[in-house]
Amino acid sequence: MANKKEVKPKASAYTKDAPELKQVATNNHQGMFDAVLSRLDMAFSKLNPSYNFQQVIKSPQKQVMVSLPIMMDNGTLQVFQGYRVIHSTALGPSKGGIRYAMDVDIDEVKALAAWMTFKCAIANIPYGGAKGGIQCDPKKLSVGELERLTRAYTSAMSDIFGVDKDIPAPDMGTGKREMAWIVDTFSKIHGEDSPGVVTGKPLTLGGSKGREAATGRGVMVSCLEAMKKIGMDRKSATCAIQGFGNVGSNAARLLNSKGIKVLAISDHTAGIFNPKGIDIEAALLYAKENGGILKGFPGGKNISNEELLLADVDVLVPAAVQNVITEHIARKMKAKLVIEGANGPTLSEADAILFERGITVVPDILANGGGVTVSYFEWVQNKYGHYWTEDEVNAKHDASMTAAFESVWFNAKQFKTNLRTGAYITALKKLEKAVQYRGNY
Ligand code: GLU
Repeated sequence: MANKKEVKPKASAYTKDAPELKQVATNNHQGMFDAVLSRLDMAFSKLNPSYNFQQVIKSPQKQVMVSLPIMMDNGTLQVFQGYRVIHSTALGPSKGGIRYAMDVDIDEVKALAAWMTFKCAIANIPYGGAKGGIQCDPKKLSVGELERLTRAYTSAMSDIFGVDKDIPAPDMGTGKREMAWIVDTFSKIHGEDSPGVVTGKPLTLGGSKGREAATGRGVMVSCLEAMKKIGMDRKSATCAIQGFGNVGSNAARLLNSKGIKVLAISDHTAGIFNPKGIDIEAALLYAKENGGILKGFPGGKNISNEELLLADVDVLVPAAVQNVITEHIARKMKAKLVIEGANGPTLSEADAILFERGITVVPDILANGGGVTVSYFEWVQNKYGHYWTEDEVNAKHDASMTAAFESVWFNAKQFKTNLRTGAYITALKKLEKAVQYRGNY
């Protein structure tokens, strides 16, 4: 906690009066929810679901915005904005991560929540979709500030979250540490231990083996399945991975273990290319000992972000942020297969170009569904109070991801469309039935 005696706050030390504390938001996703709607329209035009259902699924069920006044370490007060959007509970309690980033806003959270609805439907797990976020730069906050912010957010959302209601998880900028603070705050407020209220927890608090690597593992399974379908030989295949956080680094490690040569990796500090293949174990070790970043990693020559996206490889895995595959990148990309590890990395306009160019895109709502799949396993284990081995978790995960891939591939072929629209169709078919059975009043 802040030592209030040491640093006296000014008479009014709110953000407005303390500009040095104000973290400037950079909004790079205007119209992200519109992009979801336009992709839904594309799927509606093929599937032709009822008009009533179209109305329902286009409208997020609940949107919550909170202001979180936090005492900073220097004794001043800063007010942060927090969000939680529940897009749909048609298939079960809503599920989705919490993101800490400067560009978080309601439009982004709405889009991400809708994607969670579709992702859970495709993964065939009994959840609806939600997403949350706090507009902040976690790298600029101390551990104490982050803890107070996370606990304040949980407290503000204590009526929204619930084991059978709405279950958060990690997303960009959050991890098991934040999930531990959430489960602790929620359990204290409700007066009972509630491990199942959040997933992605540390193992000792009821986390699941295999959860941390699960999203990267799902990327690997999706990649191998897609390679089989398009006849790409994995033993001679090369790939580039954008992002070396939880998703990118685990995807790199697992793809490499399957014989796919990773020629390029990057994070927000550096891009590295090695035509002979990057030593991924060395890169992982380097990042671990270098504050989690790749800057200075000596295993190849330095490249820009654009060079990574346009690298001469067979497979591109965007596993960092949204909106990186623009029309320009789509026109020049050399990869033949894109596996979307991040949420929303491809702009809608770029989709059409990639399709025309015969580039196969395994969409985010399928490719990165491994994380929420193992989140579901974690929740089931919490409910049972009985825990599985890592091999059991991985085997169930791989089977589930393979089945999801098959159903999306089947629908894409049947409706003569790309995998993205095929994925939306897979989700919408299931959701339409659920919405119909539930009825209206
Ligand atoms: N944040 C992750 C996602 O976008 C995981 C969500 C979860 O496990 O609930 O899929």
